[in-house]
Amino acid sequence: MYWDKDIETMTASALRDLQLRKVNDTLARARNSKYYGQLLAKLGVGQLASLSELEQLPFTTKDDLRAGFPYDFLAIDRQDCVRLHSSSGTTGIPTVVYYDRFDVEMWASLVARCMYMTGARPGDVFQNMMGYGLFTGGLGFHYGAEKLGMLTVPAGPGNSQRQLWFMRQFGTSVVHVLPSYAMHLQTACAEAGMDPKRDLSLRIAFIGAEPHSVEIRQKIEAFYGLKAYNSYGLSEMCGPGVAFECPQQEGMHIWEDAFYAEIVDPRTGRVLDDGAEGELVLTTLAKHAMPLLRYRTRDLTRLSREACACGRTHVRMDRIMGRSDDMLIINGVNLFPVQIEKVLMKIPEIGRNYLIEVVKQDYMDKLIIKVELDGNAFQGTLDQLEHLQRRICDKLRTELVVTPTVKLVEAGSLPVSEGKAKRVYDLRKAE
Ligand code: ADP
Ligand code: ZN
Repeated sequence: MYWDKDIETMTASALRDLQLRKVNDTLARARNSKYYGQLLAKLGVGQLASLSELEQLPFTTKDDLRAGFPYDFLAIDRQDCVRLHSSSGTTGIPTVVYYDRFDVEMWASLVARCMYMTGARPGDVFQNMMGYGLFTGGLGFHYGAEKLGMLTVPAGPGNSQRQLWFMRQFGTSVVHVLPSYAMHLQTACAEAGMDPKRDLSLRIAFIGAEPHSVEIRQKIEAFYGLKAYNSYGLSEMCGPGVAFECPQQEGMHIWEDAFYAEIVDPRTGRVLDDGAEGELVLTTLAKHAMPLLRYRTRDLTRLSREACACGRTHVRMDRIMGRSDDMLIINGVNLFPVQIEKVLMKIPEIGRNYLIEVVKQDYMDKLIIKVELDGNAFQGTLDQLEHLQRRICDKLRTELVVTPTVKLVEAGSLPVSEGKAKRVYDLRKAE
């Protein structure tokens, strides 16, 4: 049941002791980098006597990483690096991260631990439908799956009919896929006349790398007849393997032997108590090549230290609400794209894709939501279509306190990307 029982079920106090030891190891290593060497010397920081002293250190941000490009954060000799990755650049210039042999090995073990936790076992056939290359989602899972002992199919993203063919031919039982792509692939199943529950052997999906609602997860589970587990990571920490859902599917365990997690108020930077929603800040505890102290992820979530029925003691985080920079402000009302998704996915006539546009009209912000119809669930007349449109609009208004314009479009007509879904087009700045 456990990949590493001693670590996964460690008592809270033993885990804190381990973290303190590892934070001090990390500080010692970080001092070897140009950036932290200067910073820690300037602040006069030596060893920490308790984890709470970490709060006195400044945050590290994505901008710091960019300014320190290419080597200011490197804490080892470049000769000892064996890999580099970069963030997918969803929000600007990419940042580069380095790994030594130890880091690559540790990362694979963390990913293997995540997958094992959900019930993936040697003998499973694992199809990795994530991008290989600089993006960490491909290789990160690849090495984790091999370490676990699964037969690993490095399918990469896209080419839907080929994905389905692989699944059938190889008897794929476990997949790693973007939630938006898992939704899109349903269309390809329909085109191939395939019912995944009847024709495929899928048991488990790992879905992550982009925000998604529990409603999307449930749709994926129901369509493919599998259990889908939320997977969270970011390249700055290693990639996937930072936090993962256990069989309870009630939050993702953050592996606290490898990361120290805090939640802060994104505006003031003040550390918040467990249970409060805010920005996740992570400190690496095991990285050699590029240790990071108090890295601001910009991801909004909350932590729970309630005991988990799975027996693991590591803190859990909620599914990501969005990035602090994803928040839309519509005529003064704040909202996140996932809130819109949650409402949409509860309406049976709605299909698999949607996108959000924001425009300025007569000095007012206008929210336009384009939604694909589900061709099977809706076969009504034009009148009924208008009625449906009004219903969707009412539901969104009740939930969001913003009145959107809803445009219903044909299934398959909205753009799909092979990488992370781009859902929001904010056209206000362009005007
Ligand atoms: P980029 O920041 O360019 O997208 P990464 O590939 O490092 O680069 O992506 C990490 C980010 O992806 C996270 O900070 C988070 O915003 C998002 N992400 C990763 N996993 C999840 C998940 N399970 N749910 C929601 N968002 C996620
Ligand atoms: Zn659990």
